[in-house]
Amino acid sequence: MKEATIVGAGLVGSLWAVYLTKAGYNVTIFEARDDIRKADISAGKSINLALSNRGWKALETVGAAEEVRKIAIPMYGRMMHDLEGNLTFQPYGKENEAIYSTSRGDLNAILMTAAENTGKAKILYNHQCIDINLQTNELTFLNKKTGEQVHHKTDVIFGCDGAFSAVRYVGLQRTDRFNFSQNFIADGYREILLPANEDGTHKLDKNALHIWPRGRFMLIALPNEDGSYTCTLFMPHEGGENAFDKVNTREEVDAFFKSTFPDFYALMPQIADEWDNHPLSSLAIMRSYPWHHHKTVLMGDAAHATVPFYGQGMNAGFEDCTVLWELMQKHNENWEAVFEEYSATRKPDGDALQDLSLYNYLVMRDYVADPMFLLRKKIEAK
Ligand code: FAD
Repeated sequence: MKEATIVGAGLVGSLWAVYLTKAGYNVTIFEARDDIRKADISAGKSINLALSNRGWKALETVGAAEEVRKIAIPMYGRMMHDLEGNLTFQPYGKENEAIYSTSRGDLNAILMTAAENTGKAKILYNHQCIDINLQTNELTFLNKKTGEQVHHKTDVIFGCDGAFSAVRYVGLQRTDRFNFSQNFIADGYREILLPANEDGTHKLDKNALHIWPRGRFMLIALPNEDGSYTCTLFMPHEGGENAFDKVNTREEVDAFFKSTFPDFYALMPQIADEWDNHPLSSLAIMRSYPWHHHKTVLMGDAAHATVPFYGQGMNAGFEDCTVLWELMQKHNENWEAVFEEYSATRKPDGDALQDLSLYNYLVMRDYVADPMFLLRKKIEAK
């Protein structure tokens, strides 16, 4: 029997489990958190995300797209809000192309259930990877409920344990000629939940990604199914007039939103009550290479964590599944050959994603409000 182990039942690990079962593997997934479907805990990071073509393709290959479509809200373009509350709409494509606002928790739950429903994948929760032997394919986990250490030997290991990957940290980073860099950007983010109207309808156009571009910083909003919006303020942690260290008291929060995002403030005058409901979080780019060692490989954020401005982190992680799946067929599951080619060919894509993600922060927070940029886009679209 073919045995595979995945560390991390997040978005990428859960989806990849479905793929492996299709190839006849028995899959064990070890997840550090509790089961998000049962426990009242967040699925981490942002509450919703934009799902786009790369992601859909990976979901479709294993028949997981249909369930996800039920919870995905199409956003056909960006809706910009200027200081006077004027709106400008920029479509994402010529033919009603869209990206889709999707709840992170619901999407993760759908993928975990899809993996379990194959009957060939099991998820062990509260198991945190703390050590890995890359030569013998042995992993050590801390059972967070009992405090016991659990040892597990397997045929092949997939590190899908996110930006702060233990598979990378206690495994690959200790190997010769492994390169790694971690760069936090100067900006952080804070989420704000804009509630639905009393009748459950959305307070803004539901089928757009809303942006309040303000040059050095921005606020964005993505729709949720219940009529609310998950809004995210991206801004420098400190320094300058508009920075998180200047917005602390209720009075400061009120004054900042009133003067900087007046139309948003009109929709949410209770912003000061909501301000502390979500923590101020940091953003980093993590580069590594190679993404494999013998029969262990990194996927998703564990390999190429990026800042969220291009909305492609998860989509790229899902595309890792597409690429590995194709290489599995090509190399007849000779994992070392699969991983060799995956690392070499996929790394430039990871780098490009990270570069584009940084660039798109400039586009979203600044260029979208620039008439010359809009004019160029119009000309390009013709
Ligand atoms: P994760 O989702 O981080 O999952 C990792 C899993 O591993 C978690 O379940 C974790 O508990 C588990 N784990 C961690 N350590 C261990 C351990 N030691 N042992 C066992 N388990 C462990 N991407 C998009 O495509 N579109 C977007 O719109 C978008 N918006 C974003 C907005 C924000 C604010 C942020 C921060 C990110 C956004 N992203 C977006 C990026 C996206 O969140 C990530 O790329 C995606 O979550 C990566 O999935 P993953 O499965 O690789 O990692």
